[in-house]
Amino acid sequence: MIKFLDLKAINDAFDPELSQAVNRVLKSGWYLLGQEVKTFEEEYAAYIGTRHCVGVANGLDALRLILGAYTVIGVMKEGDEIIVPANTYIASMLAITENRLTPVLVEPDISTFNIDPFLIEAKITCRTKGVMIVHLYGQNAMHPEIKRLAEKYDLKIIEDNAQAQGCYDHAKRTGSLGHAAGHSFYPGKNLGALGDAGAVTTNDDQLSTVIRALGNYGSKQKYVNEFQGLNSRLDEIQAAILGVKLKRLDSDNNRRREVARYYSANIKNSKIILPGIPDPAMKIEVFEGHIWHLYVIRTAERDRLQEYLAEKGIQTLIHYPIPPHKQSAYPDWNSLSFPITEKIHREVLSIPISPILKDEEVCRITEALNAY
Ligand SMILES: *Cc1c(COP(=O)(O)O)cnc(C)c1O
Repeated sequence: MIKFLDLKAINDAFDPELSQAVNRVLKSGWYLLGQEVKTFEEEYAAYIGTRHCVGVANGLDALRLILGAYTVIGVMKEGDEIIVPANTYIASMLAITENRLTPVLVEPDISTFNIDPFLIEAKITCRTKGVMIVHLYGQNAMHPEIKRLAEKYDLKIIEDNAQAQGCYDHAKRTGSLGHAAGHSFYPGKNLGALGDAGAVTTNDDQLSTVIRALGNYGSKQKYVNEFQGLNSRLDEIQAAILGVKLKRLDSDNNRRREVARYYSANIKNSKIILPGIPDPAMKIEVFEGHIWHLYVIRTAERDRLQEYLAEKGIQTLIHYPIPPHKQSAYPDWNSLSFPITEKIHREVLSIPISPILKDEEVCRITEALNAY
């Protein structure tokens, strides 16, 4: 069987460096707020291209803490609006609503799956304080139009970079393109820990200081609590693991690009729409620098295709089956209509892609799709 993502094989490729890193921390006797985290934060900030990186417990917390810090600083307040793509993973929404801010959902462009920059301005009101762009599936969502709107209306651009570690646009990496970015190192992400982990990157000194305090009980100095914070820290073992894996992130992403290029050149089936194929009707150029966290195809017969591939021993997943506005977690949105988002959720299927996928497997998957 070809697994969708073989995490054991991915991490085995780092043997014995990962076990050495874990052992080093184990034997050090120091497990939180230590040198491993400090070193990883410095390396990751340098990699992304920002002045600051703050390690946190997971990707959702990274986004929660950014908006929490903007609230503490007074840039945002209860009831303010944050523009967000309607087809994002639920975490982006949860980070906004948890801070008593209001998500304003905007449809994506169906050819890129990213927020349609030209639908944003119509949704801006006097309460709009930010735009959360999500680099979905590993593709940059930043666009000159979004920059223009942020300047014109004084909006904060918050990047959800959970799926796009290493993605770049004109030599600048996602995570450095807005005012602050949340990163997830969930095991299945392109840079994955062996458990939960996340980070915030930013060039904003004040924001970085407040986020670090908020994630550590609201405290800059032990037992002195300036804010009502929470406990959301990156731990030493995960930081040591991430330090090992960061060194190979670019080459791993390049292997994903190779697989994606092969799929895009060789999958030929009139029932299947491939991602990122330039189309004259497209309003957005397809940016280079895509890191292919997911290779997402579309078909009107999604469930049948998924079953067919399963019979051929090819595991696929759906990212995501239910859009946020149709979830019972957000009953007030259930009657809203976002036709492009709904179409995406009905039609998408993610086929296997990873740095350890073999040429022969890529070929088998392609042949199966062509024979469908
Ligand atoms: C994974 C993910 C998150 C959340 O990250 P966790 O580390 O699982 O909390 C947020 N946004 C997007 C788009 C994601 O894919």
